[in-house]
Formats: sequence, structure tokens, C-alpha cells
Amino acid sequence: MSSAHSEVDGRGPEGASFGGKLDLTGAVALVTGAGRGIGRGIALALAGAGADVAVNDFADEEACAAVAAEVEALGRRALVVMADVSDEEQVNGMVERVEKELGPLSVVVNNAGITRDNVTMMMDPADFDAVIATHLRGTFLVSKAGARRMFRRRRGCIINLSSVVGRRGNAGQANYAAAKAGVIGLTKSLAKELGARGVRVNAIAPGYIDTPMTQALPEEARQLIVDNTPLRVIGTTDDVAAAVVFLASPAARFITGVTLPVDGGLGI
Ligand code: NAP
Repeated sequence: MSSAHSEVDGRGPEGASFGGKLDLTGAVALVTGAGRGIGRGIALALAGAGADVAVNDFADEEACAAVAAEVEALGRRALVVMADVSDEEQVNGMVERVEKELGPLSVVVNNAGITRDNVTMMMDPADFDAVIATHLRGTFLVSKAGARRMFRRRRGCIINLSSVVGRRGNAGQANYAAAKAGVIGLTKSLAKELGARGVRVNAIAPGYIDTPMTQALPEEARQLIVDNTPLRVIGTTDDVAAAVVFLASPAARFITGVTLPVDGGLGI
């Protein structure tokens, strides 16, 4: 394997052989909220592309251990790092441990998330705060800890999970929409701050993806979403994971600050 393939920097030398490749061999990735759903899919896809993966979650250590075993079955190294992404001390400890045990972090995926849906007039401020804390403060804290290291090394990338709801809003999800819109602003600002050091920062805005978060929806609501999606399907975790692998890879070396919709056209 050429050393160029081990680089996940944003601005490889002109003519470098990795143009167009999706190979992440040598990369060390941290995926938050990776015990299930989209995060699990992302962790496995990154491992499939060659990355070693740190699997983070808040509470479900058993689920994380199972994902880590799947990463190892793909021939990559894995590490379970339990932490609340909204807690600065836990986040800093997590990133430090990832670097100590797996090596220099080169891919950060901010995926951890929760929902506390209600119409705004009925929404408990604690539910507003909890959603903002997990999605927005969490993305800020994990990005900050990762960025400080990547900035020094002049390589790496950050990928943040936003949502079609962050772009369009959604009745009953003002807290979630505000958090996900905030993630887009954070992504663009970080991209401007880190670009000159070759660190890329992008977001993905999934539409409705079949995960535990959306399986709770009533069948009529799911059908309505399908009817409003130009491609007429609900997405899978693999659809999102493929976009993450692309954005993390040298194939995306000239892409930063974007929010890539992975939504079957729902956000058009
Ligand atoms: P999910 O199945 O509910 O999984 C979310 C994961 O995040 C869980 O493993 C959860 O761990 C973890 N988590 C929650 N709070 C955390 C915290 N404070 N610290 C660390 N981990 C935490 O959700 P999903 O559907 O896969 O969604 C993943 C991401 O994609 C989220 O950011 C979501 O907003 C976004 N997204 C999803 C969809 C969709 O249709 N599913 C659409 C657009 C965007 P515990 O179980 O231990 O709490």
C-alpha cells in the first residue's frame, strides 16, 4: 500500500495517486453514537474502506462491543469509547484515549443524536436543551478536540450529521431542526477556520432513514414520507455510510464546507 493511501488530508500534493480513490487504509476514525443505526453503518463502512474505528456511544456498551467485533471481523482495529458527547471532560478523555490506543485521529464523524419531539407551545425547555446539547454542543466539543490535533498535523476531516429537517424545519421538531441547522453553520465556520491547514469539514443531511430513531413512526407517517420523496423510498444506513466514506476519502479532497443531502430528493 502506498503511503499516499494512508493520508486523509484535504489537499494532497498535485498529481498524488489517490485521486478518485475511496481507500481509507491507515486512517483512524472516531464515530459518535455508533452502537446502532446510522452510526453503526458508518463505523462498518469506514472499516470496510480500510480505517481503524473508535466506536462511541453514551450508554449501550454491549452494542458498541458488538460493533467493534464487526469492525475487527473486517480486519481493522477497533476501540470502544463510552462518553457523553455533550460533556467536555468526557469528550477530551475519549479523544485522548483514541489517539493513545489507535494512533493519530484522521476522521471524526459527529453522528450521536436524540429526539425529544413536541410542538413548540408544549415543549419542555429541558427537552429543547437536551437536543441542542447532544447535537450541537456535542458536535462542537468533539470537533474542537479533533480539530486541535488535526490542525497541528495539517490533515484530517470532520463529517457532521445534519438532517433534511435542519434545512427545511419540521412541525413538532423545533429543537431538532434548530440543532441540525446549527450543525450546518458550525460546519461552514469550521471549514473556513481549518481549510488552510488542509483539514476538511463537511455535513450530511439525511432524509428519512430506516433506523430505531424513525421506526417508531406510525405506518401512515412513513407512507407520507415515501410519497413526498422523489425517489419513493426510505433510505438505509448504507446510503448515509457511503456518503461518509466518500467525504472522508481522498476522492473528496477538494470538497469542504458543503452539506450533502442524502434524502432521495426530499429536500428539493
Ligand atoms: P439512533 O438509532 O437513535 O442512534 C443514535 C445513537 O446516538 C445511539 O447509539 C445513542 O446511544 C447515541 N447517543 C445519543 N446521545 C448520545 C450522547 N450524548 N453521547 C454519545 N452518544 C449518544 O439514531 P440514528 O437514526 O441512527 O441517527 C444518527 C444520526 O443521524 C443522528 O444525528 C440523527 O439526528 C441523524 N439523522 C437521522 C435520520 C433518520 O432518519 N434516522 C435522518 C436525518 C438525520 P445510546 O443508545 O447509548 O443513548
